[in-house]
Amino acid sequence: MDHKNDCFVCGRELVYLDNDEDAVCLYCKEAHRSNVRCEAGHYVCDRCHSLGGNELIEKYCLKSTSRDPVEMAFDLMRHPQIKMHGPEHHFLVPAVLLTACHNVRKTDAARRESDLKKARQRAEKVLGGFCGFYGNCGAAVGTGIAVSVLTGATPLSREEWRLANLMTARSLFAIAAHGGPRCCKRNSFLAIGEAAAFFEEHLGISLPVTRDVKCGFHALNRECLAEECPFYGK
Ligand SMILES: [Zn+2]
Ligand SMILES: [Zn+2]
Repeated sequence: MDHKNDCFVCGRELVYLDNDEDAVCLYCKEAHRSNVRCEAGHYVCDRCHSLGGNELIEKYCLKSTSRDPVEMAFDLMRHPQIKMHGPEHHFLVPAVLLTACHNVRKTDAARRESDLKKARQRAEKVLGGFCGFYGNCGAAVGTGIAVSVLTGATPLSREEWRLANLMTARSLFAIAAHGGPRCCKRNSFLAIGEAAAFFEEHLGISLPVTRDVKCGFHALNRECLAEECPFYGK
C-alpha cells in the first residue's frame, strides 16, 4: 500500500502528459498547471505533497464540501503524512466530524475556520500512546472535542459539559469492546461511527456516513486483528 511511484490515493500508475493541463488538487482544491496525474485522474499539488499531518488535515477540511466523515477520513489517511498509527488521528477525527456538520448546516467560513483551529489546538495536547498509557484513546477524545467545540462547552457549562463527556464515554466504550493492541484506523472508524449516531440522537444533526467501512490498511499494520476487526477487508 506504500505506492512509492504510484498514486497514493488509489494505487494506480501515474501518467505524464505531453503538455501541462489544469488539474485540481484533491486536498487544497486549488487548480494548478501540471503534466502529471494518475490513471484515475487524481492530482495532488507539490505543496500538499509535503505538508505535515495536522497542517494537511486543517487545509483539506477547510475546503472540503463532503458531508461524510468517513469519506474524508479515507482521503486523509491515504496521504503519506498520515501514518498508520500516530497522534495526527486525534485531530483527524474531530476535524472530519466538524467539517461534515458544517457542510450539512452550511456554516459560514469564519466559524468553520475558528472551529477547526480550536479542535487542532486541543487535539495537539493529546499525545501519542494516550490509549495505552492513560486509558483514554485519542480518537475517542477527538469525538469529545468535536462535541465541545460544536456546543461551546466549557468546564462551567451544564448540558454541553454533559454531552461532551458522554460522547467521549460512548466512543471509549465501543473502542474498549474490541480490545487492543492499538490501531488508529480501527479506533478512528469506531469513534466516527459512534459520533454520527450521537450527533443524530443528541444534536439533531444527520450525517450521511459510510456504514460498510472496509479499511484496506491491513498490510501496513503488523498488529492488525484481521478477521476480528469489524473493518477488515478490501
Ligand atoms: Zn489515483
Ligand atoms: Zn494542494
